[in-house]
Amino acid sequence: MIQMKNVMKQYDNGVIAIKDLSLTVDPGEFLYVIGPSGAGKSTVIKMLYHELKPTSGSIQVGKYDLATMAPSDVPYFRRNIGIVFQDFKLLPRLTVFENVAYAMQVVEAKDEDIKPRVLHVLKLVGLEQKLRRFPSELSGGEQQRVAIARAIVNAPDVVIADEPTGNLDPDTSEGIMDILERINADGTTVIMATHNREMVNERPHRLLEIAGGRLVRDEQGGSYSDEE
Ligand code: ADP
Ligand code: ADP
Repeated sequence: MIQMKNVMKQYDNGVIAIKDLSLTVDPGEFLYVIGPSGAGKSTVIKMLYHELKPTSGSIQVGKYDLATMAPSDVPYFRRNIGIVFQDFKLLPRLTVFENVAYAMQVVEAKDEDIKPRVLHVLKLVGLEQKLRRFPSELSGGEQQRVAIARAIVNAPDVVIADEPTGNLDPDTSEGIMDILERINADGTTVIMATHNREMVNERPHRLLEIAGGRLVRDEQGGSYSDEE
């Protein structure tokens, strides 16, 4: 479902963040992307959701070829992808319910479908009691659960998470991982960049390690070794 072939990414300032990266992700996989700071993890993640274009090489996500995709196709492509950020990126003036509903409104879902679906996903993440709260009234873990609800509300094929537990304490992070693993068990592909070595070691999944813009390891159930 996802295929990157000989991807190279050079930023405008000349930095080559990704040198030559090829990889295939099958539907339903759970994939960690690890590596030291500056390795190129975020660059890869951003290319996968078309925030950045590769300088060369090809990226196929589902039926979309991201290198040649017309700008008018980008909104359709994005419907198949849910994105979760380290800093949540919720809309501060909207309630929990409204933050999630908004993601359905922008894809022009029918009004009568929005309320039951939003209530359903907020229940999945355990926030059915907090529908009327604003983000500033929630803990970090709760805010991230709203962000996950928003990411899955349109039933995407893939959820991409860039350091989703990076701002959270260990217990809260476990709860977020429980939710991501549950989403994955329901068939959604999950791709997660992380620095969280305890998590990677305790919950083994396919592990992709990037260093210096190259893929240096691709291992099923791999663990974070001590020297990193
Ligand atoms: P990671 O997510 O693994 O920390 P990044 O993908 O953010 O790594 O960065 C990879 C490399 O690209 C680093 O050398 C970083 O400084 C550089 N880089 C990232 N973003 C930009 C940018 N917008 N412009 C120029 N260089 C960038
Ligand atoms: P209750 O039944 O407890 O009053 P509702 O399910 O009616 O709660 O609504 C819960 C919250 O979701 C309220 O803050 C309400 O304003 C909001 N809400 C419900 N439906 C919508 C909608 N279609 N668009 C935006 N917000 C909504």
